[in-house]
Amino acid sequence: MKNLGNIEFKNDFVSNFKGDESGSKKPRQTPGMFYSKALPTPVEKVTLLAWSDELANELELEKPDNQKDIDILGGNFVLPSMKPYAACYGGHQFGNWAGQLGDGRAITLGELVTSKGKKWELQLKGPGPTAYSRRADGRAVLRSSVREYLMSEAMHYLGVPTTRALSLVSTGEPVMRDMFYDGNAAYEPGAIVMRVAPTFIRFGNFEILASRGETNNLRQLIDWTIEKYFPHIEGEDKIIKWYKEVVESTASLMVEWLRVGFVHGVMNTDNMSILGLTIDYGPYSFVDNYDLNFTPNTTDLPGRRYAFGRQASVAKWNLGCLGGAILPVLSNKEELVKVLDTYDDVFWKKYYAMLGNKIGLDSVSTDDVVLFTELEKMLASVQPDMTIFYQLLIDFQPGIGIDNKQEVLDHFNESFYDELSTQDEEILYNWLRMYSERIERNTISKDEASTKMKATAPRFILRNYLLHQAIEELEKGDDTLFKKLQHAMKEPYSNAHDEFFKKRPAWASQKEGCSMLSCSS
Ligand code: AMP
Ligand code: MG
Repeated sequence: MKNLGNIEFKNDFVSNFKGDESGSKKPRQTPGMFYSKALPTPVEKVTLLAWSDELANELELEKPDNQKDIDILGGNFVLPSMKPYAACYGGHQFGNWAGQLGDGRAITLGELVTSKGKKWELQLKGPGPTAYSRRADGRAVLRSSVREYLMSEAMHYLGVPTTRALSLVSTGEPVMRDMFYDGNAAYEPGAIVMRVAPTFIRFGNFEILASRGETNNLRQLIDWTIEKYFPHIEGEDKIIKWYKEVVESTASLMVEWLRVGFVHGVMNTDNMSILGLTIDYGPYSFVDNYDLNFTPNTTDLPGRRYAFGRQASVAKWNLGCLGGAILPVLSNKEELVKVLDTYDDVFWKKYYAMLGNKIGLDSVSTDDVVLFTELEKMLASVQPDMTIFYQLLIDFQPGIGIDNKQEVLDHFNESFYDELSTQDEEILYNWLRMYSERIERNTISKDEASTKMKATAPRFILRNYLLHQAIEELEKGDDTLFKKLQHAMKEPYSNAHDEFFKKRPAWASQKEGCSMLSCSS
């Protein structure tokens, strides 16, 4: 275990690629460059608000006990071995090519290599402007930083691939934000999260090079990505093999999001990790009631492009953008299209396997597809609280008294947001009958089925209203709820935190910041 201040950082990315070394923060296009050097802008006072002990253990880091080390977490102190930079990338935003974007408020400090040889990039989010900040300030507010810090760690404990968060610090500086884009800008406390991932490379890093016709740079980035992060891939056809792996890991990620009910909210290609990690936590939310049209992002409202039920198909669209970007270095376009088209197979196979576990089936065959399709239709119509519904299903004893319709329906009462219509009662009951019949043919015991279900369906999720309450209290200096949530998120499959095993309360369904969020962060 080492102190942050004693680490000798590596800088593989900057030593391998061409960057703009001027250090200038003037907003600009940087053609020909993979990054621009960017030093964090010091803040008033860095105060440690949260530290992830388990992640720190993995990184072999001691919790900082002196101001100098804490200052590193807020950008007030940069070690001599760090070569801080902002990456240049582009992206398709809401379906349109947006050109150069880049790290406008993220700065990668360097790479930490553990004694086991594992490499992690350490990146500050909110450390001040870079060449890619355009007209914005490069800062982040406490509200959004708490959301990123808690949720990225919560996703990790849920078993969903994600970037991590090592620390959360306040900056002692106010940051001006127009939270609802309604002209009522106000100051909010500033904060910085230290994010950690093997790499933060996004689809957009490849897209920007392709859009600029920088084919040699594109080939260099692809070769490097494969060598560093997909070292098992070799041979003449390594690029297409690599693309196939990205297609697969992205499909897996979508299944995982659907499993836990996560809605990212801004699935632009600049927010798609090349490693299939959840990245860039902004106006995200878990679904409470099972609404396929739910989008947590106010900016996404007109089209609901990034709604809960659209994520899987948007991911494929995004993979198409990545495919288009790497095309210049591939000789065979048909093959690329074929690989992209495997997405659906991969997705559905994994999705059905996941659903099978979630409802406690011994195994999944094509005969079960009807049961899954009807389950989806039922959930979309009845719109129970997704998390609570699956928990109640674990205790449901199908077969015993299945003919007693009222009793069967009453078992799920706790998950309903409204009284069910007669039609929805019918839909739910019919599905449960179908499910009971299938469960009777299960070759595993009820206990074994329950174990599967409990391992797949989370019992604790970080609901938006809980985050909202925790943030409001933190801003007043009370960290009680924040600490409780930090504890609960580490055991999402246990019933040890059942004080939070509740539907979203009625007051939260329309309240700003509880159901809908803006990108302003
Ligand atoms: P996002 O939608 O949050 O992933 O951000 C899209 C782009 O806007 C990225 O290039 C970000 O770096 C940039 N951006 C967002 N917020 C800020 C900010 N406060 N200052 C500078 N750049 C920002
Ligand atoms: Mg982003």
